[in-house]
Amino acid sequence: MPDFIELFRRLVPIQSEARSSFTIPEPSLAEDTIPHRLAEGIPLLSFNDLRLDWAQVANLVQKVILLLTKDSSDLIKEAQGLSNIACNVSHLEGVVRAWYEGSSLSVIAAEYHVDGGLLALVIGTALRPFLSAYSEMLLPLVSQESWRRKYCPICGGKPDFAFLAKQNGARWLVCSRCDAQWLFQRLECPYCGNRNQSSLAYFTDDEGRYRLYVCEECRSYIKAIDLRRTESEVSLPMERILTLDMDRQARDAGYDSGI
Ligand SMILES: [Zn+2]
Ligand SMILES: [Zn+2]
Repeated sequence: MPDFIELFRRLVPIQSEARSSFTIPEPSLAEDTIPHRLAEGIPLLSFNDLRLDWAQVANLVQKVILLLTKDSSDLIKEAQGLSNIACNVSHLEGVVRAWYEGSSLSVIAAEYHVDGGLLALVIGTALRPFLSAYSEMLLPLVSQESWRRKYCPICGGKPDFAFLAKQNGARWLVCSRCDAQWLFQRLECPYCGNRNQSSLAYFTDDEGRYRLYVCEECRSYIKAIDLRRTESEVSLPMERILTLDMDRQARDAGYDSGI
């Protein structure tokens, strides 16, 4: 597999092309559904609300497979298996549903002789343009002060990055699937909910620009950027990739990504 920074650079044009050329329909949400779901802690978009165009999804999945596997002769078999899933719309729909709802992909991955992690990476990459478009449409409807949960208010995904706001240093989480951002407690683990300050800590880099929050309870970590310490405009999705060294350091210290 190509290295992640290179991979990310290759994925950007595919994803932005998908955003501009595909029709991404308004999600089918009745007006009173929105406040009701938010009050109950239910993310706004269930799988059935997505109204995906499966031909478009299949097309994007095929492009991502090609891009991920083209430089690696060890992945030829995997590429064929992944491509077989994308060719069968009902299987593809089943895989996307399972991925979206957080169910295991191991049975279908084994059936097609592909690695479950690689399958999840392909699906997540192909779905991102759709989910991020939905997240931009719906995020303004979320009352940030009242959500503050460990999962995304739009798609229910887990966070994989955080930032401290420029104005007041409040901690926000960023969704690993749709890039939605939501306000969260500064002293709570975003994975297991631990609030015991003696088992929560963070490390900073020399300039105090980045933080690595760790939880001793579930041994997970989350990376963060302190926007009070940055001068120029920051792309959060790009920061995720630019900070891959922090992931290595966290893993070397025995922590896991929590996703
Ligand atoms: Zn999300
Ligand atoms: Zn934890």
